[in-house]
Amino acid sequence: MGVDIFGKAFDAEYEADSKLFDEIGAEAHLSMPPEDRPWQPGKPGRFFQTSWWTWRPMADFICREFPRLASGCTHWQSTEGDGLGARAARELGRKLKAMVEDGRMADLIALRNAALDEVPDQPCQYCRATGKRTDIKPHPTVCNACGGSGALRPDATIYRFNLDDMKRFAEFCIHSGGFEIH
Ligand SMILES: [Zn+2]
Repeated sequence: MGVDIFGKAFDAEYEADSKLFDEIGAEAHLSMPPEDRPWQPGKPGRFFQTSWWTWRPMADFICREFPRLASGCTHWQSTEGDGLGARAARELGRKLKAMVEDGRMADLIALRNAALDEVPDQPCQYCRATGKRTDIKPHPTVCNACGGSGALRPDATIYRFNLDDMKRFAEFCIHSGGFEIH
């Protein structure tokens, strides 16, 4: 399952060459159920999609770095259709883009990933850290969760985002005209 974030109005000037925008218009687009809305992933501002493993830490990052802007949206971590208005989205996009361009974003991501890499393995709960499963037949068999090592990476360490995710989201925000998280 992924997170789908829809641009509310798009950037009309940016979208000027888009036939779809002229035919449907932002308001009509928004009145459609999200799953029926036409979107083109290549057009920043219409649609941003990623996985929850990526979105959760991205949203946390945004709320921590830009609390004032982020406060315009209460439900960053759920699909209730909450989001930001046009001005806040554009400002957020510009700030994120500036962080990407001056290298701060890459540094912060590298620090975050290094901290996650430092988190120690946890004992595999499927084989009780023995590397062999005795609960499935024929047993004993090599544990399919940990590959026989008896250890697993903690769940928290798989929630990661990279520079491209943030670049893409910054561009989306700038051109979105505001957005809704579904
Ligand atoms: Zn195991």
